[in-house]
Amino acid sequence: MSNSPSKSPPKSDSRLSADLRKEAQTAKGKAVLNFSRQLDQTQWWPEERLRREQFRFLASLLNHARGTTDFYASTLSHFETITPETLEDGAWTQVPVLTRDSVNAAGERMLSTNIPKPHGPTSEIFTSGTTGRPLRLVRTRFALWYWSAFTIRDHLWHNRDFTGTLAAIRDSAKGVAVYPDGGRHKAWGSSDNVFKTGPSISLNINSSADEMVDWLQRNDPDYLLTHPTVVASLARHCLDRGIRFPNLKEVQTLSEILPPGIRELAREAWGVALSDMYSGREVGYLALQCPEHPHYHIMSEGVYLEVLDDDNHPCKPGETGRVVVTTLHNYAMPLIRYEIGDYACVGEPCPCGRGLPVLTRIHGRKQNVLILPTGETRWTLLSSEDIKEFMEMAPIRQYQFAQIKENAIEIRLAIARSLTTSEEKQIAEWTKSKFGYPFDISFAYSNEIPRTKAGKYQDFISEIG
Ligand SMILES: [Zn+2]
Repeated sequence: MSNSPSKSPPKSDSRLSADLRKEAQTAKGKAVLNFSRQLDQTQWWPEERLRREQFRFLASLLNHARGTTDFYASTLSHFETITPETLEDGAWTQVPVLTRDSVNAAGERMLSTNIPKPHGPTSEIFTSGTTGRPLRLVRTRFALWYWSAFTIRDHLWHNRDFTGTLAAIRDSAKGVAVYPDGGRHKAWGSSDNVFKTGPSISLNINSSADEMVDWLQRNDPDYLLTHPTVVASLARHCLDRGIRFPNLKEVQTLSEILPPGIRELAREAWGVALSDMYSGREVGYLALQCPEHPHYHIMSEGVYLEVLDDDNHPCKPGETGRVVVTTLHNYAMPLIRYEIGDYACVGEPCPCGRGLPVLTRIHGRKQNVLILPTGETRWTLLSSEDIKEFMEMAPIRQYQFAQIKENAIEIRLAIARSLTTSEEKQIAEWTKSKFGYPFDISFAYSNEIPRTKAGKYQDFISEIG
């Protein structure tokens, strides 16, 4: 097989074996550094060994969940004994898949009544999903420290200079990190517990492109962390005006699915690479971009991630299915086979030599799926390269395609001026051929396509339930 792992694993990352900052002597720093050093080794383990280790964690987790939560005491009651061997032998497939609605309905019954002491105190967050009620999540300190170690893994994989300035455009709450000043912090966040980092700065994601540019020019950061749709609009804005950021070394994206063409756009506009992360607020890091290839490695040390077909069978390389996640380390509120709502395409083992399984592409949530009147589904714009063609048909700032009826699509545009009849016609034709169905097409114009409550921007939504 030409693309099977071929390189021999390198030795551990020298940046982790160096004499790190004194703060690594705090409890958090020690733990995060310890996890980081473990991750540095386990990334090179063969996939089979990682899987065996995962099943060891899964057995512990299931026994803990069954013994200390009301919810799993009932949903896992049909198992006699749970061991890594019984799970691998097929028992795992009998563990029910959990939806967001069932987690919401279970409420307090999901919470463990006896969290092991070393896992530390708990904290809670609420996710503001676009579908229904917010979800309450309770996490242990131990689980959060793991997340920090994955953040450090991402920095190390992409060879970032910790002394640089990290700019984040991702806050969406009203009044937070507002232009012109934004927010200013003396470090990069939790990575500072292990490495001495430079400062980080933040700007509200609802700032205009002009404001973002001005803020970036004044602060001259080394790295920019934001949503893919911000990169798209900001890069086009900068390309049109010939604006570069002289110190910028890399763009990192998170929170939304990365559409095709955005890497190229960042490269063209600013001459920098883009690295993407796949994470969820409920579950933390799921996959990070390989240091050598534009696909993703699953964070197998933190999650057991399954990609399942309609019959709940695991997908093979090249196949796309539902992402189902088990968080291995959060004993406060175990999420076992939690269906996160995304879809992903499974990849072959990576030639970089890491045993962490590969996802080649991540698709958006179910609401991003177009359903043709014939019953066929389409991955809309997220899986094609030709959106550039569409953007060149008119001076479009933002767009959103909404399926408003079974046979009708509304194209919502934020645009400098209304389209001419011939432009509308051209775009309507493009849309019909793109989606492979003669939809009724209508247009709606506004100054701004609204983001969801979580600050996300969706380029396709289905409004037909
Ligand atoms: Zn790789």
